[in-house]
Amino acid sequence: MTTYTERPWLSLYREGTPADITPEHRTMLDLFAATLARSPDAVAIRYFDGVLSFADLDTRSDALAVALAERGFAAGDRLAIYTQNNPAFVIGLLAAWKAGGCAVAINPMNKARELTYLLADSGATALLCLEELYTAVARDVLAAGEVRVSTVVTCSPLDEQTRDDERLFAGATRGGAEGGALDLEQVFAEYAGRRPDPASPQGEDVAILTYTSGTTGVPKGAMNTHANLAFNAQTYRDWMGLGADDAVLGVAPLFHITGLVGHVGIALLAGCPLVLAHRFEANVVMDAIREHRPTFTVGSITVFIALSGLAGVTKEDWSSFRMLYSGGAPIAPAVTDGFEAKTGLYIHNIYGLTETNSPSHAVPLGVKAPVDPASGALSVGVPVFNTVVRILDEDGKEAPVGEIGEIVTSGPQVVPGYWQKPEATEQSLPGGELRTGDVGFMDEQGWFYLVDRKKDMINAAGYKVWPREVEDVLYGHPAVREAAVVGVPDEYRGESVKAFVSLKPGEHVTEEDLIDYARSQMAAYKYPRSIEFLDELPKTTTGKILRRELRASVT
Ligand code: AMP
Repeated sequence: MTTYTERPWLSLYREGTPADITPEHRTMLDLFAATLARSPDAVAIRYFDGVLSFADLDTRSDALAVALAERGFAAGDRLAIYTQNNPAFVIGLLAAWKAGGCAVAINPMNKARELTYLLADSGATALLCLEELYTAVARDVLAAGEVRVSTVVTCSPLDEQTRDDERLFAGATRGGAEGGALDLEQVFAEYAGRRPDPASPQGEDVAILTYTSGTTGVPKGAMNTHANLAFNAQTYRDWMGLGADDAVLGVAPLFHITGLVGHVGIALLAGCPLVLAHRFEANVVMDAIREHRPTFTVGSITVFIALSGLAGVTKEDWSSFRMLYSGGAPIAPAVTDGFEAKTGLYIHNIYGLTETNSPSHAVPLGVKAPVDPASGALSVGVPVFNTVVRILDEDGKEAPVGEIGEIVTSGPQVVPGYWQKPEATEQSLPGGELRTGDVGFMDEQGWFYLVDRKKDMINAAGYKVWPREVEDVLYGHPAVREAAVVGVPDEYRGESVKAFVSLKPGEHVTEEDLIDYARSQMAAYKYPRSIEFLDELPKTTTGKILRRELRASVT
């Protein structure tokens, strides 16, 4: 019988040996320094009409690092980055590392309540923030005095269309640099040519805190170390054979681990350009594909569906790509088939979590993943380099090959734990092995399949929503007595958020008003798209709301 320790998937590797992480290549700064020495003038980032070379990234991040250090930012400090995709994000990462600290990646869709939590929990003392988000959200959060941020730098390289987008920046005004915030362009000018005192992070030092609710529902900062990130940036490079002749299309958000490793990590390491758009808009991205001819991207399946659904897109438009990868959410086999018929390109599945710094599994390049006949699930691939995966049954014992259980992963890309949350770390990473909360199995050839989830998470187009957070907000409404949130099937997003609510006696609120109330307090992908009112929510004999029963009633 096949066993996990025989690692049958090794036969499925693309040619080559596992990524070779030498001690000199264990931090992101080492990787960047090597690329910089090799090709300082090569294009690092294309952003609308702008171009930045690796040397530009270096001098600008030097300037920001010096400015931060002069304001007290020191070893181990945290720089929160709260912006849509733009070059300032990458400059902020490098600057945080050069100044001896780490970055905290924050979703720009987050509203005041969420931002307050993330800044307070991470203890960030500095904030790099899109100017529009500063005036619309962050300025009031800082004024409320619940967070430790003392230095704010604003950035604003946005195109006109986004500036005018009221939906995104309601309440924003220009001129955010006033009132104590520094402007990033001014920092570049004022500190031009200055070099920070050399910082030398170690592989085990935290490079980025990325917030996820893991399996338990409370947002926690996954401690993505330099060694974790450097390892998986090299995994992407070697698994997909990426080099200086490639160009990466940045369609995933940079605050998420897929964008951080699969876009920024690759560009800094392979020395190839990253083509960035501020956020995913199918038309804008398609124009960038036509103009800049990228060879690789990784994104969520909805991105590929949206792009291939645009009118007037031809196979020729896609012809620069050598490979596409899609992760973060399940892919229906019919979708990859339809996409291939239209574009000539096969979408390779890739699977991982924030805690695995993007991939733990991927489909080898040029190989088509099998489909499990029983569940209809497309395989998520085989474990990537140096990664060991086990399937554990309900009793915590290794399940026989082919049997379903929880996927448990260990390897050089698995985080050591959560920021200042030892109990959550012990629960999700006992002995350094990650309990993923994903349920699946491995077949005799070593292909892995996901068939279910142990965690309550809702996966809306790759954006993860935890029922508890949405319920907490609904409970804040004066008319709400009980609330339970579940994921319901959604043709485009895979799943969308639905709430069941019972009201306090004598209270009344409409579905629309309650949705508006939720929307005002949370990132747009989280608020319930529909609310069903019940007199009473179903409960166990001990009074626990039966979310499972509610979910079953709509699926
Ligand atoms: P995140 O921490 O946001 O990266 O979310 C990780 C979760 O996304 C995993 O635990 C899975 O439930 C889901 N996921 C990631 N990749 C895939 C994939 N290729 N297919 C299905 N689900 C996925």
